[in-house]
Amino acid sequence: MFERFRAANPSPKTELEYTTPFELLIAVLLSAQSTDVGVNKATRKLYPVANTPAKILELGEEELKSYIQTIGLYKTKAKNVIATCKILLEQHGGEVPNDRASLEALPGVGRKTANVVMNTAFGELTMAVDTHIFRVSNRTGLAPGKNVDIVEQKLLRFVPKDFLQDAHHWLILHGRYTCKARKPECWNCIQQDLCDYRQKTPMPDGL
Ligand code: SF4
Repeated sequence: MFERFRAANPSPKTELEYTTPFELLIAVLLSAQSTDVGVNKATRKLYPVANTPAKILELGEEELKSYIQTIGLYKTKAKNVIATCKILLEQHGGEVPNDRASLEALPGVGRKTANVVMNTAFGELTMAVDTHIFRVSNRTGLAPGKNVDIVEQKLLRFVPKDFLQDAHHWLILHGRYTCKARKPECWNCIQQDLCDYRQKTPMPDGL
């Protein structure tokens, strides 16, 4: 499966736009239960004005809200971003820490966000299991599990090391664009013959 993913897309990337670990951290924090497209729209305006903990604190919570108000749960997220910026300045010299415990201690940052930042900003071999990866892992039989923790542990065990760095991006993109929640495009899927899913979707009429 991963040889096929790599042949089709040799350098998969997150669809969130960022240029520094801090920008990535805030984008991931904002993306909970929101789309990457919506987050990018907001950060394209926010980051030219404020893209460091100090600058966001200078902006203040109310002003920050005005940049992110199109994103779901923006009030809570604004609070978390401000609190995160304070901790980054007070405890980490204004930098994003590269270890799980410090990342998960930041307000609004859970295991998944920490995994994304560790993988994408710092090149660690982590697996951030979101709704897409959870679905694809279960449907295909790649790493079935009742909850995201089990799926994460299985993927870390089963995905060959060579592919681990990029596996999370390949699986997310596959879930987002092909193995969709409601109607997976099995007829258009490069993994069809390797996938265990029984109710494969046939090609729609007219295509
Ligand atoms: S064949 Fe269908 S269910 Fe299996 S991975 Fe592809 S799109 Fe998903």
